[in-house]
Amino acid sequence: MWFAVITLFPEMFEAITAFGISGRAAKREQVQVTCINPRDFAEGNYKRVDERPFGGGPGMVMMAEPLAKAINHAKQLAQQAGCANVPVVYMSPQGQTLNEVAVQQFVNYDGLIVLCGRYEGVDERLIQRYVDQEWSIGDYVLSGGELPAMVLLDSVIRRLPNVMSDEQSALQDSFVDGLLDCPQYTKPDHFEGLDVPAVLKSGHHGNIEKWRFLQRYQRTLERRPELVEQAKLTKQQEKWLRNLNSSES
Ligand code: SAM
Repeated sequence: MWFAVITLFPEMFEAITAFGISGRAAKREQVQVTCINPRDFAEGNYKRVDERPFGGGPGMVMMAEPLAKAINHAKQLAQQAGCANVPVVYMSPQGQTLNEVAVQQFVNYDGLIVLCGRYEGVDERLIQRYVDQEWSIGDYVLSGGELPAMVLLDSVIRRLPNVMSDEQSALQDSFVDGLLDCPQYTKPDHFEGLDVPAVLKSGHHGNIEKWRFLQRYQRTLERRPELVEQAKLTKQQEKWLRNLNSSES
């Protein structure tokens, strides 16, 4: 998948291109991440990209023109890379809140052009003319769109085919089928008076699968009850729940 990130701080994206799963995907050229600095498209000796807001008030606003030129440049690069289906996404606390369903849909695009705001945000007219989607990573405000953009890239990249060495593990992650993940254990068997649940050492795959599902279900019920109603359960999982309920009553 192809990504262009419009950012005043391109160096920050080394966190995506040099480390972990996304770093490996970049090295294997399963993803391409290009950073474009709007300052390179700014006019004048000072290469200004921000100005005071009309109407007064604190802070600065990112100017529309350098951002428009940077986005147009990104669109040209996308075309050269053979990517047709490439929306412009503005990371913004005022956007829709990102979740796993949305992440899964991003995977279907050829690429993304991701705009990172700074200061008080970007001139509204740029959003009107150039932005296709606005996405937030939660109801809090960060100093810039770089961390939210990295959250978006990382979450999308790990969902791409052949990126994770054990894709099965990604399918068991929280939210993928609507439930949270189950508790995980590894060596040693005993830790500060706590033991690994015996079923996980039994070697009985059916019992382990059932135990993990019931843990996931219980956990989701306790921590995120609103998710349980929408979770898509298999026939087998429904049967395990029915058996559990009948043995409890
Ligand atoms: N004045 C803006 C507001 O209240 O909506 C906030 C501007 S914020 C200091 C600067 C930039 O950080 C924004 O333009 C956006 O790109 C990014 N940003 C901050 N919080 C974000 C969030 N929760 N999700 C996505 N982007 C965010």
